[in-house]
Amino acid sequence: MKQKIKIAIELFLNWLSERNVRRTSLFFSKFKARLSANYSQQKWKIKLIRLCDFIIVRSNGFQFIEFELTNICNAQCIFCPYPDMLRTEKKFMNMSDELLAQNIKKMSHFKNALISFTPTTGDTLLHPEWNHYIEKIMQTSAIKQATFFTNAIKLDASNQDKLIALLKRDKAHKMSQLYFSIGGLNAADYKTLYKVDRFELVVDQINSLLKLLKENHLSVGIHLHLKMLRAGDFEMGKAMALMNQCGYPFLYISHSHLYYSNDGYNRNAQIGYYQPTDEKKKKACSYLYKTRFAADGSVWADGCVISEMPNDSSLKLGDAEISWDEIENARTALINQWEVEGNIPKPCIGCTVYHCKK
Ligand code: SF4
Repeated sequence: MKQKIKIAIELFLNWLSERNVRRTSLFFSKFKARLSANYSQQKWKIKLIRLCDFIIVRSNGFQFIEFELTNICNAQCIFCPYPDMLRTEKKFMNMSDELLAQNIKKMSHFKNALISFTPTTGDTLLHPEWNHYIEKIMQTSAIKQATFFTNAIKLDASNQDKLIALLKRDKAHKMSQLYFSIGGLNAADYKTLYKVDRFELVVDQINSLLKLLKENHLSVGIHLHLKMLRAGDFEMGKAMALMNQCGYPFLYISHSHLYYSNDGYNRNAQIGYYQPTDEKKKKACSYLYKTRFAADGSVWADGCVISEMPNDSSLKLGDAEISWDEIENARTALINQWEVEGNIPKPCIGCTVYHCKK
């Protein structure tokens, strides 16, 4: 898509209120679902679906649900607090059937929601029943859009088949976007960033999934986000040739040399970080209006990678046992502490993800 059109769309979305951004997202999700229902290789249709993907991704908003099926991971990324958390008392586990049922009841408090099955730490595909859990939640009427981030290490043949089956049964096209996080563009950078040797495996698995998506005429947007070392080279042509050997039309690649952090975060010299702004942060961060259902039954505000620090639970709102009113009361107290008393929660101090509510 032409760069000028992209910039104009982004400016327009930034200008809209949060509520209208959500409406735009839902409209383009439905439009994409209609286009995809009889998807063919016609060029004009591919272009329109790509336009929908662009708008849907940029209109995720700030209040979506984070749903953590597991907090166990198969990598130890140098930009994530997970390796430090392994040395704390935190329990690492998969979500149970009982907790899933409790959380599904709580879904009735949401309307037209976007849900992201992306854990704060962990990888969704490690839950042995990830596909059934996701499908059950997507069937609730409160959920209109779904997505998740995975490092794709466990995207083996069996999980590829499960994903294709899930997408085929998803007649409402709620799962319209998926995100894969990859460490660099070669095996050495990957090992440095993720601390495991899985680059070739991940590249093969992604290519194999894209081939399956193409063969099955599916149009889910696949977003590869390449995490780069400070001195890592990125070339779009090289990345596309490596990752999309079958020419799947809905693959999008982005990359970043910068990472998020906050004042309590252990920084790593091999990667660069966004700089904190001088903004006074009188208003609480918009992401505190998000809800994270954690794998251990706790419920939190937010759910970005640095919202839970080792040995800190300042963004925790309660757990699955308590009522929704109690959870919302805890959220209000947290926001008041920030805006009235000037008491900023630990993960938010110096946080470079901070976004001020409009
Ligand atoms: S300031 Fe950072 S840690 Fe705090 S809610 Fe916002 S994104 Fe999360």
